[in-house]
Amino acid sequence: MRSRSENSTLHPEPIIVPRSEHSLSRSSIDPDALKVLYRLNRHGHIAYLVGGGVRDLLLGKKPKDFDISTSAHPHEIKKIFGNCRLIGRRFRLAHIHFRGGKIIEVSTFRAISEINQEDGPVSSDNTFGTPWEDAFRRDFTVNALFYNISDFSVIDYVNGLKDLENRLIRCIGDPEVRFREDPIRMLRGIRFAALLDCDLDSESERLIRESKDDIWEGATSRILEEIIRMMGRGTAASAFDRLQELGLLSTLFPEIDQHIRIEGGDFYHDVFSKLDKRFHSGETPDPWLIFACLFYPYFDFIYRGSSGDDLLKLARDAISPICRRIQVPKRMQDIIRQILAAQVRLFDVRGSRFKPRTVLRKAYFRDAFTLFEIVASTTSGGRELISEWQKLEGPSPSQKPDPKRTRRRRKRGPKPPATTPAG
Ligand code: ATP
Ligand code: MG
Repeated sequence: MRSRSENSTLHPEPIIVPRSEHSLSRSSIDPDALKVLYRLNRHGHIAYLVGGGVRDLLLGKKPKDFDISTSAHPHEIKKIFGNCRLIGRRFRLAHIHFRGGKIIEVSTFRAISEINQEDGPVSSDNTFGTPWEDAFRRDFTVNALFYNISDFSVIDYVNGLKDLENRLIRCIGDPEVRFREDPIRMLRGIRFAALLDCDLDSESERLIRESKDDIWEGATSRILEEIIRMMGRGTAASAFDRLQELGLLSTLFPEIDQHIRIEGGDFYHDVFSKLDKRFHSGETPDPWLIFACLFYPYFDFIYRGSSGDDLLKLARDAISPICRRIQVPKRMQDIIRQILAAQVRLFDVRGSRFKPRTVLRKAYFRDAFTLFEIVASTTSGGRELISEWQKLEGPSPSQKPDPKRTRRRRKRGPKPPATTPAG
């Protein structure tokens, strides 16, 4: 039976759901994360699986990562695990390293919010807290559930289970305060609503509409990171629609918002739906491909109104102001404009601009071709263009290279253009 714990008088007591009454099974937890949980527990510490890992497993989804929170302090964690490195200045986090580059992140229960990590003062021990405090400093109720390895129960301080059941993304505490503390939570709210196919609670929606411009109070690097996470996990179309609906699109990407006012948003929606489809068939998009998808309909609009001579310059002029605003790294900007400019050639497979040797050898070709496949498949006649390229290039130029095959071929002769990631 679900019960309230009996050991706290100072704080609201959590709902504790015993193993027999929830669906989170140990067999779906990463074995290395399980090892870490058990070992911390054997050394006398509280050890919980936390955050997205618990949320996703309860929803029957595959978590991106398995984070752990514990009562052990960083120096204690380091003593327990030989394969541990402490990172971070403001909050010391433990990274436990496993074979194949896998890292399990372990954090000590915290008393305060983790916002503005880069800018804040160096941590002192009073930033550590109780499980209660650690739950309440988190952003959304569905992100504050704990899985307790000592009895396999789920611990819920914030009514996250009810919200998960009702498919509602709700801030912990007053949304106005929580968004003011950290405006990036507005983006995170939209990201989780799209990712989990949930609604954002109406008060949060109202506040985002009202204070969307406050997003610039957050660190730009975090805005960029959240956009990449939002659009690269198979629910970009839904996230894009929500960004537009709540007005954040006009704040972050006014040029695109303006374009949508002129030509409508269907093109963007179609491109992202195709990108999502590819994600669900196993292709995680590179960040530059995500941005190329986002910018393409706008670039195409600019291209159609131009003489179309210097494509790279056209792409640069179109995307530079946008990239500057969200601080897309220079190197990534270069790749994005190459991908955009390449579309004109790819669509012109039969035309005078077509120079197979030039296009096929380029490093960005695989992502350029993926965008081409995405866009062409939304247009009439596009399928024939794709198959013309495939005839030139083998089965699918957008497929990632098989490293073994590439290595074998390299010994014999020149690299095959379709599978060449560099050059
Ligand atoms: P994902 O599947 O995208 O990784 P996640 O829930 O694990 O989702 P992360 O960004 O990895 O999200 O953060 C891990 C956890 O840390 C969150 O679930 C949340 O509890 C907490 N958290 C992260 N960012 C914030 C924030 N800005 N404010 C409060 N809590 C946060
Ligand atoms: Mg995570």
